Parts: sequence; structure tokens; C-alpha cells
Amino acid sequence: MGRAFVYVILGGGVAAGYAALEFVKRGVSSGELCIISDEPFAPYERPALSKGYLLPEAPVRLPSFHTCVGAHEERLAPKWYKEHGIELVLGTRVKSADVRRKTLLTATGETISYKFLIIATGAQALKLEEFGVSGSDAENICYMRDLADANRIVDVIHSSTDGNAVVIGGGYIGMECAASLVINKINVTMVFPEVHCMPRLFTPKIAAYYEEYYMAKGVNFIKGNVLSSFGIDFNGKVTAVVLRDGTRLPADMVIVGIGIRPNTSLFEGQLTLEKGGIKVNGMMQTSNSYVYAVGDVAAFPVKLFGEIRRLEHVDSARKSARHAVSAIMEPEKTGEFDYLPFFYSRVFAFSWQFYGDNAGEAIHFGDFSGSKFGAFWVCKSHLVGSFLEGGTKEEYEAIARATSLKPTIEDAAELGRLGVDFALAVCQKSVPAPPQPSEAVSGPCVILERPVYVWHVTAGVIVAASVAAFALWYGKKRRRW
Ligand SMILES: Cc1cc2nc3c(=O)[nH]c(=O)nc-3n(C[C@H](O)[C@H](O)[C@H](O)COP(=O)(O)OP(=O)(O)OC[C@H]3O[C@@H](n4cnc5c(N)ncnc54)[C@H](O)[C@@H]3O)c2cc1C
Repeated sequence: MGRAFVYVILGGGVAAGYAALEFVKRGVSSGELCIISDEPFAPYERPALSKGYLLPEAPVRLPSFHTCVGAHEERLAPKWYKEHGIELVLGTRVKSADVRRKTLLTATGETISYKFLIIATGAQALKLEEFGVSGSDAENICYMRDLADANRIVDVIHSSTDGNAVVIGGGYIGMECAASLVINKINVTMVFPEVHCMPRLFTPKIAAYYEEYYMAKGVNFIKGNVLSSFGIDFNGKVTAVVLRDGTRLPADMVIVGIGIRPNTSLFEGQLTLEKGGIKVNGMMQTSNSYVYAVGDVAAFPVKLFGEIRRLEHVDSARKSARHAVSAIMEPEKTGEFDYLPFFYSRVFAFSWQFYGDNAGEAIHFGDFSGSKFGAFWVCKSHLVGSFLEGGTKEEYEAIARATSLKPTIEDAAELGRLGVDFALAVCQKSVPAPPQPSEAVSGPCVILERPVYVWHVTAGVIVAASVAAFALWYGKKRRRW
């Protein structure tokens, strides 16, 4: 038994939804495209799960956050797929793949063949068992990767009102879930081994800002410590979390956010892997030319870093998916994926955005006792990364654009004094980008097609020099005032 499609997307998450929209925009015919997902839902915006989905009042629910609302595009409810003749094979796990024969075998025993395959299998949450701690199956221990996890958290929250939660892990899942638990009137203790929260991105100064706010909201931080075991009652429910140093924390619920592992296993031994993901070229094409990989599972060349990276961010999933579709359907018109990494989070009333790379020296700016501040990262005398909390749309666009131009930074102290004004000055001084041939594939200022990129680098060098001069003049002028 089997079916055949021209295009198959394996995985039905964020990247799948954006790829489907791009296929339709580029004129895919009815019956040519199939999406296979082990989740029983049409693709949805995963970031909503740890934010609006957990709110006690007016929480978001499907169908309101199906892709592609996160990028202010059409909301693709199941009906949309039907109307466009896209086969949604939901609640169906693919258990093996044969890239030589171009077939996928589902857990229901069906063989689905393809001409082109897009792997969009994303990642799975790391389990405590992988770190030698058992108990993950207790009903009040929760992970947060998919809608089923989010529903479980909502149920456990409802039975834990005014109770105690322990959040294991200080990354974005831990931070966002902790904020949601506080809003649900649950007492939260966060436990992580590092010296501050969000250690992969935040500087100690940025982390201190958010941690102070969390503490003012009643969150207790236990740093430099790890989970050792659970206290479990007769019903198999966790009642306490025991840490390595013997500390015992009462717990009505536990949320574990200790990282993710890309879902590559179906392709190990068949495709080249790198950085824990499936290696692709600038067209999102794997070592097999009929197979593409996008989103969290793909390791792709990031020009800004000059190396292959695997990103775990929604923007990268959306744009890499569109790029793969463009590369499949219009290869001659598609340049290499030229992506400026972008990551954001929203907790409580905070909202920050980060662009680029947090390599080199961090230069802080803004008012750390107020609500607008940030940091630039300068590596080898170039601006390579920007973080901003509390910015306006214009300011976020400015830091994105400034980061993509990589201007030369000669005076770090001046950069810190200017802060966002530096980025705004870069944008004002820079020549507007020429119209991009594939705007749908490349978001403004953020992804540039190759010829445009080359043009920009040249312009960037000129701009950088004039910006430096302007910034110096502007900085002095401001100081005089
Ligand atoms: C709770 C949460 C909050 C987040 N918040 C943010 C944020 O604020 N900002 C940000 O930048 N990023 C955020 N992210 C990250 C972002 O959601 C991911 O980068 C994005 O979802 C990756 O998209 P993807 O399509 O590659 O993978 P996914 O969206 O994970 O989709 C993968 C899909 O493939 C399916 N699948 C896997 N294996 C198989 C198989 N063998 N057979 C069938 N189906 C399979 C999965 O079930 C899933 O449906 C968040 C992630 C989570 C979990």
C-alpha cells in the first residue's frame, strides 16, 4: 500500500507550515504536496505554547495560532490545506526513511514516496533519564515541546493553584514557563547549574536585570546546583525535588527545560550530519540532492559566522523553509540562504530581540534601571550581535540592519554611549536596499540574496566608515548637550 507525491514535507511544525505557504505562493498543483506529522494538528506557531497558551485568562487556543500568523501572514487552518489540495497526513509517525529509494514508511505501514523531500522534523526535549535521573513519567513532571506537553502543563497548573513548582533549567523554556507559572499564582523555584539564567545568550548584567524582576515576583533562584532525584508519593506523584547538595524542595509540579535534540535518527547513515543536525548547503539541500532539511534539524552555512550552525529559533525555521521551497521550485532564481540569526522572547511585560552572534566583547547600553537597554557584541572590531529589550519596531529594525552590515567599531565606549542611536544612525546613513527579487523568501533587512549581499557588503564598508565618523560627531554633540 502506498501513495506518491512530488513534494513531501516530513514533520508538521513551524517550518512545515511556512513551506506549505511558500509552495502555494509558487504555484504548487493540487495533489502534489503532502505533509506527514506525528502531531494530530495542522502546523502551528510553537512559541505560543510557553506564552499565551499558559495564561490563566483568555489563553490562546487553536485554531488562532496556526502558522503563519507569527509572521503576520495567512492563518493556515486545516481547511486551507484541503482547499489547496495539500494532503495532511496527521497523527502519523514516520518510522523509517530510504533516501536511495525515495520512500518513507509510516508507523501505520504505508509507504509514501516522493520526488523531493523536505525534512522538517524539528527537535525533541532532552529527558532527565539521559542525565541519569529517573521519574520523567510521573504525571506532574512536565516537558514543553508540543501541544500535548502544553495541555499537560495546563492540567497540572489547574491542580497546583497556590502550590509549588520547580523549574529545572534556566534557558528560554525555563524562563518563559516560570513567568507563566507566576502569573498562574504558583510559587516557583528555578534550578540550574550555571551562574545565571539564559547563559548561552545573556551577559551577567542582562541576566541580573531579569533575575531581579523574577525575584521581585517571588521566584526563587537556585544556581550552580542540579537535580539529583525526586520524592515520590504512593500514587507515583512527585512531592519533592532533591538537589545534588541535599536540598529538598517541596513540589506540586515540575517543568523540565534542559535542552533539545534534533530529530535526525531516521537519516543517520544516509545523509551527512554536522553540529548535531542534518548538514545542508546554502540551498538547504542535504548530501542527497533530492532531500532538503530546514528548521531546528538543519545545520546550514551562516555567512555572518563564516561557519555551519544549527539554530533553534522560529525565525530561522520560517525562513529556511521558504528558502528550501524556493530552491526546489525555482533553483535558477534562488541564491544561497543568507540569514541573519534572530531570536526573541516575551515574558511578563518584557520583550527582547537578539540579532547576529554573541561573540566577542559585549558592550552594554541603555538604562538598566529602566525598561530599555541592550548590548552590542563586537568581534574583531566589527559589530556582530545586538540585543535590545523594550525597543520600538523602528529600533528593532535598526539593530537588525546594523548587525547585518557588520560596521567597523573603533570606539567601544562610544558605541555604548550611543546605544540604539548608533544603529539608527547606521540605517539613516546607509543606502536603502535595492528591491529584492524574492521578498517572500528574504525578510527585509534580515535575509539577503547573494548578489544583494555582495552589494551590501561593499555599501557596508563605505557606510561603516561614514557611520563611524557620524557616530563620533553625533556622540560628541549629544555629550555637549
Ligand atoms: C514552547 C516553545 C517556545 C518557543 N519560543 C520561541 C521563541 O519565543 N522564539 C524563538 O525564536 N523560538 C522559540 N521556540 C523555538 C521554535 O519554536 C522552533 O525553533 C521551531 O518550532 C522549529 O520549527 P521546526 O519546524 O524545525 O520544528 P518543530 O516546530 O518542532 O516541528 C517538527 C515537527 O515534526 C514532527 N516530527 C518529528 N519527527 C517525526 C516523525 N518521525 N514522523 C512524523 N512527524 C515527526 C514533530 O512532531 C513536529 O510536529 C520555541 C519552542 C518551544 C518548544
